[in-house]
Amino acid sequence: MNGKYFIVGTFFGIQLRIHYSWLIIFALIAWTIITSYIPSFKHGLSPLVLTSAGLLVTFIFFASVIAHEYAHSIVANRRGMRIKRITLFVFGGASELQHEPDSAKTELLMTVAGPLTSFIISGVFAGLWLLAMHWHITAIEVICQPVAVLNFIVGLFNLLPAFPLDGGRILRSVVWLIRKDFASATRIATNAGVALSYLMIGVGVLSMFAGDLVGGLWFAIIGFFLLQSARISYSQTVAQSILTGVKVSDVYNDSFVTVPLGISINEFLSGYVLRYKHYDFLAADQSGKPIGIIEMSQVTSDPHRHYENSIDKYIQPLTKSLALKPSDPAIKAQQVMQSHNLDILPVMSGKELIGVVMRRYLEDYVAVHRLRR
Ligand SMILES: [Zn+2]
Repeated sequence: MNGKYFIVGTFFGIQLRIHYSWLIIFALIAWTIITSYIPSFKHGLSPLVLTSAGLLVTFIFFASVIAHEYAHSIVANRRGMRIKRITLFVFGGASELQHEPDSAKTELLMTVAGPLTSFIISGVFAGLWLLAMHWHITAIEVICQPVAVLNFIVGLFNLLPAFPLDGGRILRSVVWLIRKDFASATRIATNAGVALSYLMIGVGVLSMFAGDLVGGLWFAIIGFFLLQSARISYSQTVAQSILTGVKVSDVYNDSFVTVPLGISINEFLSGYVLRYKHYDFLAADQSGKPIGIIEMSQVTSDPHRHYENSIDKYIQPLTKSLALKPSDPAIKAQQVMQSHNLDILPVMSGKELIGVVMRRYLEDYVAVHRLRR
C-alpha cells in the first residue's frame, strides 16, 4: 500500500502523504487551466508566460487544497482528536480520523475550518486580483483570478449537504447538537447525501439528453461518486459504533494454525491456504514464537514467484505495533489493519501467542450485531 503514496513531510505534527493518482489530476487540471482558462485572458502575454502562469495557478490551487485539509486537522487536534496523517488522492483529501469526533461541537468546528480556509484564500486572491486590475498588472491578474475562483468553488462544493462532504458533516453535527443522538444524525446526513447524489445524477443525465454531453457527464459522475462515498462512510460509521466498547478478547480466535519458516510456496498453498480455507497466516519459529505475517496476496502478486522457493521472503516481520493484547479495543485492531494494510494480527498475552484477529472476524461481528439492531 505504501508504494502507492509518497510522503511529502510532516507539518504541524501531521504527516502529509500523497497518492500517485493525485499527480494525474494535477496534470489534468494544469492542462485545463493552461489550454482553456488562461488563454481567455490573453492580453498579449507570450505562450511561455501563460504556461508558467498556468503551472503556478495549479501549484497554488493544490497548496490551497492542502491548506483546507490542514485546517480541518489542526482544529481537530486542538480539540483532542489526534490526527497524525493527511492523505491526498484523486478526489481531494482526507484527514485520517482515528475515531469519529466525540462531540457535535468538535465535529462542527473542525469541519467548518476547511471551507472557511478555502473562502479566506479565495478572498485574499480576489483582493490581489482587484489590485492587479487597478494597476493593470496582467501577469498577476492571470494568476490571482483563477486561484480566487477555484478556491471559491472548492469551498462551495464542500458545503454541499452530502455526507461525508464537509456540508454533510456540518448537517450531521447540527442535527447531533439538536437531537443529542449521533446515530440518527449520521442517518439523516447520509440520507441527505444520497438524495442529493440522485438529484445530481438525474440533472446530469437530463442535461446530457438536452445536449450538454460533457457537463452532464461530469455532473452524473460526481453524483455517482458522492453516492458511493455516502454509502461507504455510513457503513463505516455503523461499524464503528457497533465496535465501540468491544475488546479484542471478544473477537479473537484462539484456535489457529501458524506456518513454519522455510516451507515452499507449494506447501504453503496446498498445506495451509487450501486446507484451512483462509489466505492469511502467522509465521512462527520452532518454539511457536510468532515471527511475521504471511498473506497469500503477497505471494500471488509477485510475478517472479517460483513455487519451489521458500515463502520466507514474503513474510512481513512482526513489529511490536502489530501485536494486540486481549484488553485492547477491537477498533484498535481495525485501525492497525487499515494503516498497515493487513488482514490478520496476532493476539499476545505477555510473550505468548494466544490467538489471532482477522479482518473477517470484525466484519462478521459487525454484520451479526447489525442484524440484531
Ligand atoms: Zn473539507
